[in-house]
Amino acid sequence: MLAKIEQLLQEVENITASNADELEALRIKYLSKKGAINALMADFRNVPAEQKKEVGMKLNELKNRAQERIAELKDAFDSKDTGAAELDLTRTAYPIELGTRHPLNIVRNEIIDIFGRMGFTIADGPEVEDDWHVFSSMNFAEDHPARDMQDTFFIESHPDIILRTHTSSVQSRVMEVSQPPIRVICPGRVYRNEAISYRAHCFFHQVEGLYIDKNVSFTDLKQVLLQFAQEMFGPETKIRLRPSYFPFTEPSAEMDISCDICGGKGCAFCKYTGWVEILGCGMVDPAVLEANGIDSKVYTGYAFGMGVERITNLKYKVKDLRMFSENDTRFLKEFESAN
Ligand SMILES: [Zn+2]
Repeated sequence: MLAKIEQLLQEVENITASNADELEALRIKYLSKKGAINALMADFRNVPAEQKKEVGMKLNELKNRAQERIAELKDAFDSKDTGAAELDLTRTAYPIELGTRHPLNIVRNEIIDIFGRMGFTIADGPEVEDDWHVFSSMNFAEDHPARDMQDTFFIESHPDIILRTHTSSVQSRVMEVSQPPIRVICPGRVYRNEAISYRAHCFFHQVEGLYIDKNVSFTDLKQVLLQFAQEMFGPETKIRLRPSYFPFTEPSAEMDISCDICGGKGCAFCKYTGWVEILGCGMVDPAVLEANGIDSKVYTGYAFGMGVERITNLKYKVKDLRMFSENDTRFLKEFESAN
């Protein structure tokens, strides 16, 4: 028995295989149920008691060695197949800079999420627009200053074509193709002919909202905006509405939120008023509903609009509007954790 084991040990040391099939044949020959080693194991009970210890150890050695040798041969194949032998897996990888979401997109997505949970769907429209959708359908008088070239980018050869100055043009496009109930938000980029400074830019981003149905009241508007303010700026946030004027809403209001730096006591950030302005809103002017094909005797609605830059400034205390478009990665990386 010992001689037989020694002979098999010699054999196992010298096995070679040039492909997976040969290797499998070797595995069957030595290690399978009906293999040579199992046959010896079966004979083990016939070994005289005084030899059992020595033979048992030798048999185990043979089995372990056979398993090792077959594993070695298999490894050799695997590394040949994949070429992994030439790969240095310990080598340091090239550093890859991970991008981050732009702060304006982070805040825009948050605004969309909050209104989405309240049932608003997203509406989109073109940035290059015609006068009708931007001004006329929104109840801007012929001589309204916003129509002046000082405020709006016009296309010289086509004075009717402009870069939209607000996303209200999307509201108009939604109303002209659908009937109430309408509940949409319109996020997008808008353009104004302004000198670039820390507080003004020639393009910025808005999210406007529009809700039209039967019996929509100013109270509904106030509740939706309070809900928004508390989700965006924290559950302690208070809101305040001040009368204002917009061509497309009547009555109109500007909304302030309580200053989250001083908690309403007054500080430099809120100019010692305890409040900071965040958006404009109001009940949709019946003239706007009629201009866009909606019966103002049956339906009422509210609208609101906010600047994404303004909300981002308030949330993250960014002082200079120009930071948003300079692509300075030192600034953009500050928002990694907000992604
Ligand atoms: Zn304050």
